[in-house]
Amino acid sequence: MAPERGIPWVVSAPSGTGKTTVCRAVVERGPRVIHSVSHTTREPREGEVDGVHYHFVDAGEFDRLEKEGAFLEWAQYGDNLYGTGARELDESLEGGVDVLLEIEVQGAAQIRERRDEARFLFLLPPSWAELEKRLRGRGTDSEKAVQKRLTIARRELAAVQSFDYVVVNDDLEEAISAVQDLLEGERAGQGEALRGRYGREVVMRHMGPRFEDAR
Ligand code: 5GP
Repeated sequence: MAPERGIPWVVSAPSGTGKTTVCRAVVERGPRVIHSVSHTTREPREGEVDGVHYHFVDAGEFDRLEKEGAFLEWAQYGDNLYGTGARELDESLEGGVDVLLEIEVQGAAQIRERRDEARFLFLLPPSWAELEKRLRGRGTDSEKAVQKRLTIARRELAAVQSFDYVVVNDDLEEAISAVQDLLEGERAGQGEALRGRYGREVVMRHMGPRFEDAR
């Protein structure tokens, strides 16, 4: 018997929230969940492996793939292009695994238009003050660079309005188990119950005041 088709999970967050750490832990602990491998034109960072962290391609190859319709979604972020390969994603889903698509918010919007079966999770930092602290990092960036990151973070935060679920990455272990709960609950068809705990309206009613400075 063919396995039941997996669920594509779009996971977005303002940069500095820790979404990569959360997603990696969820995939490691499994079961039946993998991380989508995107295409990007950016240079590999130290330790990144082609085909594992990303498919690293040049701008010409990216353009060719885009023109032949290979991407379910794609977007520019900073100076680089990023895209999700449709075929690779569907093969995984057909194999019965859930797939985490760790992508930025413009790509999330494209998937919302194209895939009814997708679920949308937004990760939040504990507060705007905490995010600002993380983005300022060790104080090595110029004030201009910091302001640019803060502007992008504000725009990303505003996108929370169109996501199904929100999880706060305050305590890492709690955030990981919240994401595991969501995956398990949606697999079991318990979306309604999950919305009571992790639904955007419910969480944002509680969290809103902590992000007042972001407006
Ligand atoms: P980074 O260069 O730091 O790995 O990623 C930059 C941003 O691009 C992050 O917000 C990341 O989630 C997002 N991103 C990674 N892959 C994709 C993709 O395939 N499509 C879109 N739209 N965004 C992506």
